Amino acid sequence: MSQKSKKSAAGVATPAKQRHYEVIVIGAGVAGIYQIKLLKDLKINATVLDAASDLGWTWYNNRYPGARFDSESYTYGYSFSKELLNEWHWKEKFSGQPENLRYLNYVVDKFKLRKFMQFNCQVEAAHFDENDNLWRLRIGDGRQLTCRFIVLALGLLSTPTLPRYEGMNKFRGRSFHTFHWPHEKLDLAGKKVAVIGTGATGIQLIAEIPDKVGELTVFQRRPNWSAPLNNRPISVEEMADIRSRYDEIFATCARTPGGFEHEPDRRGFYEVSREQRVELWDRLYDGPGFGIWLRNFREIFTDEEPNAELSEYIAERIRQRVNDPETAEKLIPQDHGFGVQRVPLETHYYEAYNRDNVHLVDISETPIKQITEFGIRTSECDYDFDIIVYATGFDAVTGAFDGIDIRGIGGEKLREKWKHGPSTFLGMFVHGFPNLLMPAGPQSGSASTNYPRGIEIGVNWCTGLLKHMSERGYVRADTTPQAEERWTSHVTKMYSKMLMRKAKGWFTGYNSNVEGHEHGKTRYFVYNGGTPKYVATINEVAANGYEGIILQSNSSITSEEVAMTSGGRRSES
Ligand SMILES: Cc1cc2nc3c(=O)[nH]c(=O)nc-3n(C[C@H](O)[C@H](O)[C@H](O)COP(=O)(O)OP(=O)(O)OC[C@H]3O[C@@H](n4cnc5c(N)ncnc54)[C@H](O)[C@@H]3O)c2cc1C
Repeated sequence: MSQKSKKSAAGVATPAKQRHYEVIVIGAGVAGIYQIKLLKDLKINATVLDAASDLGWTWYNNRYPGARFDSESYTYGYSFSKELLNEWHWKEKFSGQPENLRYLNYVVDKFKLRKFMQFNCQVEAAHFDENDNLWRLRIGDGRQLTCRFIVLALGLLSTPTLPRYEGMNKFRGRSFHTFHWPHEKLDLAGKKVAVIGTGATGIQLIAEIPDKVGELTVFQRRPNWSAPLNNRPISVEEMADIRSRYDEIFATCARTPGGFEHEPDRRGFYEVSREQRVELWDRLYDGPGFGIWLRNFREIFTDEEPNAELSEYIAERIRQRVNDPETAEKLIPQDHGFGVQRVPLETHYYEAYNRDNVHLVDISETPIKQITEFGIRTSECDYDFDIIVYATGFDAVTGAFDGIDIRGIGGEKLREKWKHGPSTFLGMFVHGFPNLLMPAGPQSGSASTNYPRGIEIGVNWCTGLLKHMSERGYVRADTTPQAEERWTSHVTKMYSKMLMRKAKGWFTGYNSNVEGHEHGKTRYFVYNGGTPKYVATINEVAANGYEGIILQSNSSITSEEVAMTSGGRRSES
């Protein structure tokens, strides 16, 4: 692996001047940070490029009040270093954005990773050069870089989307997406604030700000199911106990489908009485985190009847918490059942609507017509605001991938290939795009789970492959069309068993603010087989010499064999 970069006095490569790397990682979020740690340990000539001005993206940007984990903090943190686990004290069961960002910075500083990161580097294009077997990257600052491998750690909820209302640029007050909540302190006191959107971020924000604003008006198109987070502080004593149980905690995460601490109730829904079900649901509803979703009966994900019974139970809990029965009914989803999408978790969300200064506008009944200079015009009336917050979510899963002009063999565009939805092998490879790795890509083990658990699995596996190739002199890896087709149909087929397939949510690629992502054009974004099956599959692929992936050494790559690659045959020399 050549390392031609210039060295500074301290012996550290000066990345701005270096033009070629063995590996370029794009993205300095949770995935990119871990990836560069492993590459550094292997002494591979690598760098991280990130469009942002600092690391941590999700936790750097989402600074809206209420932004916090829905994963138990100690299951979200990295598991790779005992020392790190012993040093870090998670202060809350579900830690908030400032602490989460502090954590990522702590990790990067502890392992001295910052010097491998280059910020303000928007990757605009990445084209595969078939002759030199390299990726050629164009960066926003005008630089052209090359690398043997690119690792896309672009994030699956990293590209915010705004609605398409007329007049949005005419509003004279302040308006922004939750993702772009101002970094400086925003004075909300006495302000009339509008929040458009009641997804996961909207729910966190709406619950948090009623006592900080003058008036809060929530514009809701479709309600989402939500359940209590039941957050609480973690004392020094409790943290010591957690530390002593980390092995056990991560072992639990590894054997549960979602990569969380929550294990499904293995009793069959139909095998227990109604009283027993309600007893379980009462306990879970009052318990922490995703328990009510993931410690539940497995049938709630696949069988209409159990799902309907649970949904009615949750609806009743909402009715108990909202004083005005009409408002309560508006907050109860009618178009999908509980848990068919990732469940937003809340702290006093429903109680917010009991306050005199919080108002709910149902825009399915009175649609927003336009944003005016002074506020929002619905089909019914004009509302004046000081601040409009768009809690309108993300171009999920493939948004960041679409943001780069990625071209593989024969100039094929990834954006075009994935026009109607992604197709991958293991969520980590795309046929025709050699040496492009996605440790936490679409259809990988990450998207539907506790992300960092999935991310570590993906990064470990990709790094194992890089090591395998380096040790054997391979310079090129591409998956076969057959392997990609097999995996993608497997992912697609699994949707057919899940009630989720009918939901208008990001698991099915629905986003009315993104062209082509309308309802009815399902995109098979997430792998629903669960962490243990995913790990077993990818480990088997590796144990079988990376079956489904064609590995080639320099001498074996001739134009003839490039053609063979497309035909899916293996070539080793
Ligand atoms: C508000 C919020 C709360 C969440 N809470 C949880 C939780 O509790 N539990 C959980 O498991 N998951 C949660 N998630 C999901 C979360 O995204 C992941 O946990 C995790 O942060 C993803 O890390 P990542 O490295 O994959 O991606 P990101 O943090 O999204 O980082 C991607 C990086 O890629 C960079 N990038 C993208 N395109 C380019 C380009 N063209 N050029 C250069 N750089 C580029 C970005 O700048 C960014 O730094 C949450 C997401 C949000 C939005």
